[in-house]
Amino acid sequence: MRVLITGAAGFLGSHLTDRFLADGHSVVGLDNFITGHRDNLAHLANEPRFSFMEHNISEYTEVPGALDGVLHFASPASPVDYLELPIQTLKVGSLGTHNALGIALAKKARFFIASTSEVYGDPLVHPQPETYWGNVNPIGPRGVYDEAKRFAEAITMAYHRYHGVDTRIVRIFNTYGPRMRPRDGRVVSNFIVQALNGEPLTIYGDGSQTRSFCYVDDEVEGIYRLYNRGDAFPTNIGNPVEYTVKQLAEIVVELTQTKSQISFKPLPEDDPKVRQPDIARARRMLQWEPRVDVHDGISRTIEYFRGLLGTPRMAERVAKRTAARR
Ligand code: UDP
Repeated sequence: MRVLITGAAGFLGSHLTDRFLADGHSVVGLDNFITGHRDNLAHLANEPRFSFMEHNISEYTEVPGALDGVLHFASPASPVDYLELPIQTLKVGSLGTHNALGIALAKKARFFIASTSEVYGDPLVHPQPETYWGNVNPIGPRGVYDEAKRFAEAITMAYHRYHGVDTRIVRIFNTYGPRMRPRDGRVVSNFIVQALNGEPLTIYGDGSQTRSFCYVDDEVEGIYRLYNRGDAFPTNIGNPVEYTVKQLAEIVVELTQTKSQISFKPLPEDDPKVRQPDIARARRMLQWEPRVDVHDGISRTIEYFRGLLGTPRMAERVAKRTAARR
């Protein structure tokens, strides 16, 4: 197979690229580096089955040659990023998805959209099955991401029903692991980087809100199986083991053995109070379930960030980003 992966320089996009290459396929990666980074693809510099286009998928896109699949993973995905990049986030979920679908239609390729647990908003049903329609504030600060992804799902189903495109929709729940950007604003990367730097861990609100954290290898395996043998309807892929944010902070403190304190900050607007995937559908259809326990996954992620923060270039980048955000 030869597939196009948008957002290939991002956290998930780069791991997914590796997964396709590992199975002997060819990948065309596309990214404009607004949140992705070249370092995530550096190990593929001499890989003949990998090629790269620096481009914004929200603009007209031409990809030379045949394609068997188009996987649209480009988007700011951390709340801090999509609050800083609201228009780009709306555009890549709407215009970007439209362009990616157009490519799939023209090439007679399978289409796969990276959707999100955010389509459930601040959920009133817990855990969240795919049949739940969600509780989203369309005009709140998170609406730019939530509604773009909801539009992406709608246009994907329209291309499936009207044009007969073979499509897949994954709803990704909080995923973490190596290649997350330090200071990308997400809770796992924030806590680990803060703990390693001896800074206070910033809990937003009282820390009683919950999330369910999936290690990247599990997430990518679920996505890969869904691509190969799923159907057109949305499928949750995530780890159903649920933690409060406070419990997560305690795990990070324990595993890093940091002397950092906890500091409490205001809860961002519309921050979902609970989140846990119902993965019965993925279990049944894909014989998939997550294998990596959070302690194990967080330990591996700590090792990654330790290595990264030890390198002078990265330390400088992190310091700059922190200064810019103060
Ligand atoms: N959070 C936190 N401290 C941080 C970053 C995030 O307490 O430094 C909280 C955030 O308010 C949310 C949860 O952790 O309740 C997960 O946030 P994240 O940004 O990782 O993703 P979300 O699940 O909200 O999209």
